[in-house]
Amino acid sequence: MNCPFCRHEDSRVIDSRPTDEGTSIRRRRECTQCGSRFSTAETAVLSIIKRSGATEPFSREKVINGVRKACQNRPVDDDDLALLAQRVEEALRATGQAEIEAQEVGMAILSPLRELDEVAYLRYASVYRNFSSLEDFEGEIALLRALPFEKDVEEASQVASPQLK
Ligand SMILES: [Zn+2]
Repeated sequence: MNCPFCRHEDSRVIDSRPTDEGTSIRRRRECTQCGSRFSTAETAVLSIIKRSGATEPFSREKVINGVRKACQNRPVDDDDLALLAQRVEEALRATGQAEIEAQEVGMAILSPLRELDEVAYLRYASVYRNFSSLEDFEGEIALLRALPFEKDVEEASQVASPQLK
């Protein structure tokens, strides 16, 4: 990428280190023209497979938009939602899969949302019950069965969400 200061095309890497528990790598670079230093982050592309079979890149914004309505009039602010979306992404990346079914994204939202706000969690989970096909109901049942007990939620979230640095 171009130097953000002088737009020069070439830079050299002076340091790289893994971040977010190894799901991304951060490189410290130095512009070979102006000598300015800047950082780049590199992550594997995470694709979401939609119901239609089409794929699209994972988007934290979509996760936030998906839960925002459930969080209406709840003590949940934008920072909470940003952190929730980050935790969802980390949980999905921790599966080690490059392509994830859209339904798995919905499931990955449940645990951190329950921890964030139980009312918002219930609203969000109930959306799944408005499904119209048999397949959708099967998914909902699988989802409820997959829901861990409170103790497991805490343990799972510790694994899935490294502390913010
Ligand atoms: Zn430069």
